[in-house]
Amino acid sequence: MNREKSRKIYEEAVKYIPGGVNSPARAFKAVNTGPVFVKRGYGSKIEDEDGNEYIDYIGSWGPAILGHNDERLMDGLGEVIEKGMSFGLPTKIEVDMAKAMVDSYPGMDMVRMVNSGTEATMSAIRVARGYTGKNKIIKFEGCYHGHSDSLLVKSGSGTLTYGVPTSLGVPKAVVEDTIVCRFNDLEDVRKAFAESDDIAGIILEPIAGNMGLIPGDKEFLQGLREITEENGALLIFDEVITGYRIAYGGAAEVYGITPDMACFGKIIGGGMPVGAYGGKREIMKIVSPEGGVYQAGTLSGNPIAMHLGIRSLNILKEDPSIYEEMIETAKKIEQGFKINIEKTGVKAKIVRYRNMLTLFFGEGEFKNFDDVEKCDTDMYAKYFVEMLDQGIMLPPAQFECMFIGTAHSDRDIEKTIEANYIALNNIK
Ligand SMILES: *Cc1c(COP(=O)(O)O)cnc(C)c1O
Repeated sequence: MNREKSRKIYEEAVKYIPGGVNSPARAFKAVNTGPVFVKRGYGSKIEDEDGNEYIDYIGSWGPAILGHNDERLMDGLGEVIEKGMSFGLPTKIEVDMAKAMVDSYPGMDMVRMVNSGTEATMSAIRVARGYTGKNKIIKFEGCYHGHSDSLLVKSGSGTLTYGVPTSLGVPKAVVEDTIVCRFNDLEDVRKAFAESDDIAGIILEPIAGNMGLIPGDKEFLQGLREITEENGALLIFDEVITGYRIAYGGAAEVYGITPDMACFGKIIGGGMPVGAYGGKREIMKIVSPEGGVYQAGTLSGNPIAMHLGIRSLNILKEDPSIYEEMIETAKKIEQGFKINIEKTGVKAKIVRYRNMLTLFFGEGEFKNFDDVEKCDTDMYAKYFVEMLDQGIMLPPAQFECMFIGTAHSDRDIEKTIEANYIALNNIK
C-alpha cells in the first residue's frame, strides 16, 4: 500500500508541529511506522491523502460512534452555522443538551459543559476537593484522565506507550496529592484510606480503555462506592470513553452503580471538541457562579458543538436496539479473532466488553496494569502494520481499544476477520 503523500506531509509536519502531530498517538511511533494523514471519512471508512481506504476502528477515539459524516448529524448544520458560531453568551441549545444528559445518566442532577475530557476531569477533582475540603485524589495505575498535572501520573495509553510514567514538567508538589492504586484491587484502596483522612475522592475509568480494555470487576466498583461513602469522599466515574458508548447511561447504567460525579467527552461532541462534568445537585451547586469553585470557558457550550452533541444523543436514544447491534458486531469480531488465534497458534487474547475490544499479545488474565505491561508490544506493532496494509485502521498501540460503531457492516467485519487471519499468520 503506497503512502507516499502521507510520508511527504509528515516530513513537512515535523518542521512546524512537535512530532508532526497535535496529539502523540497520531504519530504511530508505538507501531514503528509513519502517521497516516486523513483526507476524508464516510460511514465506517476513512480515506488517506494517497487515496487508500481503511475500515476505521479508531473512530476519532470514540466520538464517531455513528460513523463518519452521518447524514442525520449533518442535516441542518448549515442553518446552525449561519446563525453564528459563538457568542460567549448563553444559548437555548445548551439547556437542551444539559437536560438530555441529566435525563440519561443515573444520579446526575446538573452538568457543566467544557471543551475536552481533560477539562472535565480536571474540573471534577477541583469540585471534589472544594466540596469535601480535602486534598488528596486516588487514581489507578493505567487509567488515563487527560493531561492535567495532578492526573498525569501512571496514566496509561500515550504515556504508557512512550514509557513516561509521569510527564516531565509536572511539579512534585502537585503529584504528592495524587495517590495511585492498583486497578481492580480493593485492598489497595482500603490501605490508602487507612493511611490518610485527607482523601477528597476517587476517579477512575469504570471500564478502563487506556491500558487496553480492562473492565472493572463489579465487586471492585461496588467496593469503591461503599468505601467512598464510609469515608466522606466522592466517587467520580470518568466516562469520557464509556459515556453513551457502552450503553446510553454509560458504565453507571451497565453496573447499576451511581457515582457522585461523572465526566464525559468524545461522543457528546459528535466530533466537535467537547467535555462535560456533572453530578448530584448539592455537589454541583458549589460550581461558580453559584458556589465557590471557579471554572469557566470562553467557548464552552459552543452552539455548533451542542447541535452535533444533542443530535448524536438523540439518535443513540431513539433506537433501543442500537447498542445491541453494536455488541453483536463486536461479538462477531471476538469470535472470528478467537478462531484465528487458535488456528495460527499466536500467543494472543481477544478481550471484549459490550462494544469495545482489545487484542492483547499476551496470555492469562488481564485485570490491571501489571498484566497488560507483560504484553508483546513488538508483536502488536507488526500486527498493526499488517492490518494497515490490508486496509484496516486499528488503534496504533497495544494499550488502546477498538471502537465499534453503528456504521460497521457485516462485510466490514468479514474483511477484518480475514485480514486478522492473514496478519497473525504472517507475524507468527
Ligand atoms: C480521552 C480521554 C480523556 C481526555 O479527553 P480529551 O478530550 O482528550 O482531553 C479523559 N478520560 C478518558 C477516559 C479518556 O479516554
